[in-house]
Amino acid sequence: MPEPMSPLPDAAHPVRRAEALRRLQQFVPLAGSAYAGGRNVDHGPGRHDAVSRLSAALARRTLTEAEVIAAVIAHHGEAAAASFVSEVFWRSYFKGWLESRPQVWQHWLAALDRCDARLAKDDSFAARHLAAVRGETGIDCFDHWIGELASTGYLHNWARMQVASIWVFTLGLPWELGARHFLDHLIDADAASNTLSWRWVAGLHTRGKTYLADPARIARMTGGRFAPQGLATRAPVPDAPEPPPAAAPRAVTAPDPTRPALLWITREDGALDCEPALADLPVRAVAVIDHPALPPADRAALDDALARAAERWQVASFRVPDAAALVALAVECGVDQVMTGRVAVGHGLDPLIAVRGGLRRQGIALAEHWRAWDRHCWPHATRGFFALREKIPQILAQTGLSAPIFRA
Ligand SMILES: Cc1cc2nc3c(=O)[nH]c(=O)nc-3n(C[C@H](O)[C@H](O)[C@H](O)COP(=O)(O)OP(=O)(O)OC[C@H]3O[C@@H](n4cnc5c(N)ncnc54)[C@H](O)[C@@H]3O)c2cc1C
Repeated sequence: MPEPMSPLPDAAHPVRRAEALRRLQQFVPLAGSAYAGGRNVDHGPGRHDAVSRLSAALARRTLTEAEVIAAVIAHHGEAAAASFVSEVFWRSYFKGWLESRPQVWQHWLAALDRCDARLAKDDSFAARHLAAVRGETGIDCFDHWIGELASTGYLHNWARMQVASIWVFTLGLPWELGARHFLDHLIDADAASNTLSWRWVAGLHTRGKTYLADPARIARMTGGRFAPQGLATRAPVPDAPEPPPAAAPRAVTAPDPTRPALLWITREDGALDCEPALADLPVRAVAVIDHPALPPADRAALDDALARAAERWQVASFRVPDAAALVALAVECGVDQVMTGRVAVGHGLDPLIAVRGGLRRQGIALAEHWRAWDRHCWPHATRGFFALREKIPQILAQTGLSAPIFRA
């Protein structure tokens, strides 16, 4: 098995804006019928050219959903781009769904505590889990994909579905541990897409609709590279409480365009410098919270976003170690607001809470920029995906992507 490593940003899964734009440009001609016909085939490591490989950039908003969709529609027109556009909307769908039910994220965290307690005291359970995370189960495709994930930080979407299904139904391991393993290793790790995709495979998202990996289909879809043996033939839905009803997303304070601001760049939104809605904001300084545990891909993306923002507003940039240092910097800069990209449900909420508390004590506001894209998508993302999908033309029009200029 390959040694686990932190995925490093490279041209294959760019996290810096210039590289991500180059990758977008390279992929755009393939985003029409070639994508629709070829997106489900996993050609193996280093051969994922039928898909965009833009997820690491989209997860950090190094590129925005709107930018990517605009480029693809401009080249192919809305009809031919429909398959790709719809996949990008899956991302917005999951994000909106989790925003409307943040408890699902909290329940996942609580379940992980229970799983860890069981791992500590149940040796046979711990051994099965260890074999899975090491890719030593004896199931050829599963072991291969776990190794690919460890060494590259990426898996093709279809491979992710097979891994998750085998994890839950063949290996009988809790989906929560599988979701953590993915979140810890994926270069595109995203709380909403990851948690809800695992729940979808387990039959907890579309209640009762599970995804069962099939050996013959795996052999066919991987060009005969694998012949997995002993896969589960049944997919019983794991016990889990019903998710709560959808509620309105967390209220946020919008930036005041007239007040001097410290711009705090996080992993949530790395393209605030390109956002026309913020063009006139009087930014005094830009900063990131940088700590030793930051994965290399996040550090590269933050460094890139910091340099671009400093250049855009012609101000000094700062790397601070923690929330307290960010608050101290805001005081030193004499600003009365700290502005950041809207923080979604996930690990990003903890630093947000710490920064907000510290700023409040100093009488400084914390403003979050909520992108028009999310504001238009999320109200339709509270039920099944198809409720959002039928609103795609409306959302494209509302966000200016359906203008004649974008038609082929
Ligand atoms: C178990 C499981 C876990 C996953 N975890 C993550 C995750 O942590 N982060 C993440 O970004 N995606 C996740 N996905 C969704 C999907 O696998 C990846 O977004 C996709 O494989 C990224 O490769 P790409 O950029 O080449 O995709 P493309 O096929 O080129 O799609 C373009 C973009 O659309 C979005 N997208 C495509 N398919 C999906 C999908 N099924 N769900 C949500 N968004 C999608 C992504 O932003 C992607 O970059 C997960 C899927 C599964 C089944």
